[in-house]
Amino acid sequence: MTEILQIPPAYLPASDALKDRVVLVTGAGDGIGRAVAIACAKVGATVVLLGRTQSKLEATYDAIEQLGAPRPAILTLDLGTTTVPEFGGVAASLAQEYGRIDGIAHVAGVLGARTPLEQYDSKVWSQVLAINLTAPFLLTQALLPLLRAAPDPAVVFTSSGVGRKGRAFWGGYAVSKFALEGLMQVWADECSGVSKPIRMNSLNPGPVRTSMRLEAYPGEDRDKLVMPEQVAPAFVYLMSAAGVGHTGQAFDAQTR
Ligand code: NDP
Repeated sequence: MTEILQIPPAYLPASDALKDRVVLVTGAGDGIGRAVAIACAKVGATVVLLGRTQSKLEATYDAIEQLGAPRPAILTLDLGTTTVPEFGGVAASLAQEYGRIDGIAHVAGVLGARTPLEQYDSKVWSQVLAINLTAPFLLTQALLPLLRAAPDPAVVFTSSGVGRKGRAFWGGYAVSKFALEGLMQVWADECSGVSKPIRMNSLNPGPVRTSMRLEAYPGEDRDKLVMPEQVAPAFVYLMSAAGVGHTGQAFDAQTR
């Protein structure tokens, strides 16, 4: 069983924590991804906002512009259907625009069905695995040369409690998050001990008040949940100098 580390609970990023860094955030149009994108911009990052719904990404873009933060960029992509050549095209355009990527926060995800595995629909299974697991793999793979061009590159994979201990009825979602932990560990091992290491870690945000959480727990008292803005600094921690020395590790954003 992997040891779970805790992001320091009192951590608040310095105002220049990601100054001069280019950070790509997936799922940046809603929920935790939107909060992460804004938190990164607030502390100096140029943020590439990747997501599925153009209008939501534009709303995040406007929120960042209003802060007077570095101008973000929008990349509208359906991560469930993006092909390897298309990911290559993303890498080529980011190379042309920025020449490097300092950080990736893989936050986009879908819940899929909450049913027993016995009844789990195979199409839903494939879709959940494509968005939650294959897309972070292919996007990171395509961006490796750009990560290597950055002085302190870091990648964060968004995990879940059910990706660390299996629980009934979480189906493809739980399996995708377990696999994401494995992907992170294998990649961290491959990327350490080289002249330019890339830090790779996983982060479980814990229960957060978003559309996905409400879909998973419709009867829950939403007022008891933390807001996305409260877990966003944990992502900044892992992508900034604060996270130096950590790789291949599984983190929790909230104390239990
Ligand atoms: P939301 O449903 O609020 O947001 C999910 C985001 O992912 C949206 O921006 C959505 O875009 C994007 N997305 C979904 N499918 C695709 C796709 N095919 N292509 C591109 N983007 C896509 O969820 P959360 O913010 O709650 O979840 C964020 C991450 O945190 C997920 O990985 C989730 O598993 C994890 N997590 C969340 C917890 C919680 O309590 N909220 C607990 C543990 C983990 P759009 O809105 O345009 O569809």
